Amino acid sequence: MNSSLHNEYLDAMGVQRWVARDAGAPEGLLPESESETAEVTAPAARQAAVADAPDWSMLATQVAACTRCELHKTRSQTVFGTGNRQADWMIIGEAPGSDEDRQGEPFVGRAGQLLNEMLFAAGYQRADVYIANVIKCRPPNNRDPSTEQVACCRGYLERQIELVSPKLILAVGRIAAHNLLNIETPLGRLRGKVHRYGEQGIPMVVTYHPAYLLRSPLEKRKVWEDLLFAQAVCRGQSA
Ligand code: URA
Repeated sequence: MNSSLHNEYLDAMGVQRWVARDAGAPEGLLPESESETAEVTAPAARQAAVADAPDWSMLATQVAACTRCELHKTRSQTVFGTGNRQADWMIIGEAPGSDEDRQGEPFVGRAGQLLNEMLFAAGYQRADVYIANVIKCRPPNNRDPSTEQVACCRGYLERQIELVSPKLILAVGRIAAHNLLNIETPLGRLRGKVHRYGEQGIPMVVTYHPAYLLRSPLEKRKVWEDLLFAQAVCRGQSA
């Protein structure tokens, strides 16, 4: 779906669209001229998927019982999210695959193993970060989630982000990056920049999905660069 159609869809749902301010990267890492303006749906899609649960337990209950889109019919279970709920880093992927659908936890298959290694290289254990997906149910045949499915789930992810309030969001893969930023810029052009998410302007860094790295291991070097960049951005937040 192109972005103008996407915007029409958001408008039809009464979702306010937000225009993100570009972020300043830590000095020396990102020339201002390279920054991009992205559209971001901030506390968006509340009408499509209100998730005003006051706490984690209520939110998890809402997600587990969700029937907002047709994916509930084919899931074994919802895949909520896992990890440190006070984490500095929040990792956001696309959607559960078959392993995740079976085990009820994000990133537990081969891509998950690689994600763990990526995090370890960046100095984090899996349990140090919070990991979630854009959507909470497995799309059959590992199809890309539809705009409608993402919209139905959006409020849940937004509430998770609010509750964690991370210093940094790491969006892994095209689907996560495009849906969080509400743009369709090729992923390669989103790398190496600090994007801002939501009203709080949480810094967001984009990198390749570990499933892509399994197919293209030579790209691991770029992910390593992205992780170093993310570390520097996060340090900038703490300074
Ligand atoms: N890919 C994702 O994006 N998320 C998962 O949980 C597993 C694989």
